[in-house]
Amino acid sequence: MNKGVPAPLCWLNGEIMPMARACIPVSDHGLLYGDGVFEGVRFYRGRAFRLSGHLRRLRDSAAAIGLMLPLEQGVLETAVADLIAAFGAPEGYLRLVVTRGVGALGLDPASCKRGNVFIIAAQMALVDEAERRRGIRAIIAATRRLPVDGLDPRIKSLNYLNHILARMEASHAGAQEAILLNGRGHVCEGSADNVFIVREGALLTPPVSDGALDGVTRGVVMALAARAGIACREATLTPYDLYTADECFLTGTGAELIPVRDIDGRAPRQCPGVVYRELQARFQALIQRETAA
Ligand code: PMP
Repeated sequence: MNKGVPAPLCWLNGEIMPMARACIPVSDHGLLYGDGVFEGVRFYRGRAFRLSGHLRRLRDSAAAIGLMLPLEQGVLETAVADLIAAFGAPEGYLRLVVTRGVGALGLDPASCKRGNVFIIAAQMALVDEAERRRGIRAIIAATRRLPVDGLDPRIKSLNYLNHILARMEASHAGAQEAILLNGRGHVCEGSADNVFIVREGALLTPPVSDGALDGVTRGVVMALAARAGIACREATLTPYDLYTADECFLTGTGAELIPVRDIDGRAPRQCPGVVYRELQARFQALIQRETAA
């Protein structure tokens, strides 16, 4: 472990321990079948950013799959605060996971009596700062996102296999991120982030109904754009729209805001563009305001 970089910590069912010691039984359906839900949350200056939005989505994801959260919201909030304090670094990333719990072999969750809950605190950077400044390379993956009528994209479940396959395609192509399309060829999102483009000064992002997660950062960016007087709307996008965009960038808790300089060998006209730079500055200012002591 580098000096100054705290070792990952884990809050597991009420106890804080080094992540390396935190264990889940092999019979947990979260592990066996990806049966569970999760959230990623960033903290800045020792405070979780937009925690209530993340906890609401966690509750909704759990409700949508008929999973009872085994803990009250207040307990989760206290766990988050305790873990951030124990972690020690002012900034970092939290991964909140609720599994279906230990059960019998077989898909039926009825034998799982109680979900396991754990929260990891660690440092997480999707790209290094030099790459963020320059912009990243993305590809449009051959792997499609799960159809919205197969699994509602608002459910943030532990099933990420097709996103992982898309990400492998990106790595294979020497790119940092993959953009997934739905079965109709419409843009959904990145493997772990939402996609925005700028066209003639307007900000466009795919609707959830095309297969995007209703990202917390996506919502923040849309609100910041409205406040900045930048026209912003949801729109069905195709690869053509990405290839001909004035700007393209990604948003997410892990990603924060990342400009894209290359998509399948096509370069957006500006990277980082003026709209990206404006929103990135406003995003940083918002974090400062919301996490001020
Ligand atoms: N799409 C997917 C598939 C994701 O995993 C994430 C990361 N949670 C996002 C979008 C971005 O969402 P958020 O801004 O809420 O982190």
